[in-house]
Amino acid sequence: MEYKGMEELHKKIVSGEILVRDVVKEYVARAKASDLNAFREIFSDEDIAAQVAVAEKMFADGTATMLTGMPIALKDNILFAGHVVSSSSKMLEHYVASYDATVIEKIKKVGGVIIGRTNMDEFAMGSSTENSAFGVTKNPHDTTKVPGGSSGGSAAAVAADLCVVAFGSDTGGSIRQPAAFCGIVGLLPTYGSVSRHGLSAMGSSLDVIGPMAHSVADAEIFYNTFKGRDQYDSTSREGNGNKPLKKKLAMPKFDRSGVDVELLKNFEAMIEKLKSEGFTIDEVDLPHFADALAVYYILMPAEVSSNLARLDGIRYGDRAESASIHDVYGDTRGALFGKETRRRILLGTYVLSHGYYDAYYNKAVALRGIIRKELEEVLQNYDAIITPTTPTPAFGIGEKVDDPVSMYLSDLFTVPANIAQHPALSIPSGKNSAGLPFGIQFIGPRFAEDTLFALGKIIENIR
Ligand code: GLN
Repeated sequence: MEYKGMEELHKKIVSGEILVRDVVKEYVARAKASDLNAFREIFSDEDIAAQVAVAEKMFADGTATMLTGMPIALKDNILFAGHVVSSSSKMLEHYVASYDATVIEKIKKVGGVIIGRTNMDEFAMGSSTENSAFGVTKNPHDTTKVPGGSSGGSAAAVAADLCVVAFGSDTGGSIRQPAAFCGIVGLLPTYGSVSRHGLSAMGSSLDVIGPMAHSVADAEIFYNTFKGRDQYDSTSREGNGNKPLKKKLAMPKFDRSGVDVELLKNFEAMIEKLKSEGFTIDEVDLPHFADALAVYYILMPAEVSSNLARLDGIRYGDRAESASIHDVYGDTRGALFGKETRRRILLGTYVLSHGYYDAYYNKAVALRGIIRKELEEVLQNYDAIITPTTPTPAFGIGEKVDDPVSMYLSDLFTVPANIAQHPALSIPSGKNSAGLPFGIQFIGPRFAEDTLFALGKIIENIR
């Protein structure tokens, strides 16, 4: 079965040309046969059959929607009742979700079929999935390369066609960076446009659940099924920031010396193609755009350190052997958290500690406000800000594990949108001579997802 988009697959099911059970069977077989380590778990045959039965009934009743019966992959940090949700950590290796995330409830209502949970960097911290406690995921375009992260398993699963769409979460780039590395579409929705209820928290003022898909059209359909205000997340809300396209884009000045040469050429070629489509592209000054990364690496660890405090060997998850109750906390957190997780907890504790929070945390909060204002001001006159999604294509497995700062730099272009709580879309824009994909990013006004989808579709037509 060659996949040509959700709409076409949906039509084939409606016309009776193919059955939901056969679509799902084929995807599950492919997922099981894959050696990319994209999935942490593929759910049981009985579990999947029960979901298929719901979907088939909806087709029989005439209540099916576009997502009904579609095989969906779930990032391992979103709660699906009765299933393990481990955030790819030893700490939660056996932890079973006791309720459904709001996004899962919404998928169940439309009869989507969740086939398994995907590998990720532990607690969504990383850019390569190498921080997973359960082994790296391989990039389907070159298995010696990382798929990006932290939603690397979801990105690889979509790129290798092991599912139709996948859930990701994005705190600083974790949907868009792996989407770019794997040659798929990924959306960071506006902060608050999707409920975080049932998402394992990393940085609560930054985290957003979003779609990863083969095409912009699929990402749009998927996103529209799970967005919206939710009584269980007081930061969630509805909004509409879409406006008719002005065909005007802003390109921030950035240091080109740190960007891969072939990638830069591809980006510049896309700019030229957009101009011949009638777009005006202005180079604009966003003086604090590049500071977003430094701000992120203060605010995010601060939030991480407090969110992960609950994982103490008592309340959630597994517990290490200890001599006394006093030792339980340290022994458990020392043994069951990975190295990067411990690094960020320490960083976060430091920037929040007495005597330091004025120098670090409070300064970062102030700068966050400035970055947000700068983005808002520029976006009053433009449809979106355009950048490459990442400074380089996918790097080698093992290449950056001993150099966290160089790993952090791969989020240079993605982090500003999270800091400002704006939406951003990554779309494949071609490949390098070795066949590795490039991504192009649009950052839009708040709640202007439809504008981003429109821009994304233009790129799909001209790339
Ligand atoms: N790569 C970034 C980090 O390591 C972003 C992670 C994310 O978006 N969850 O923090």
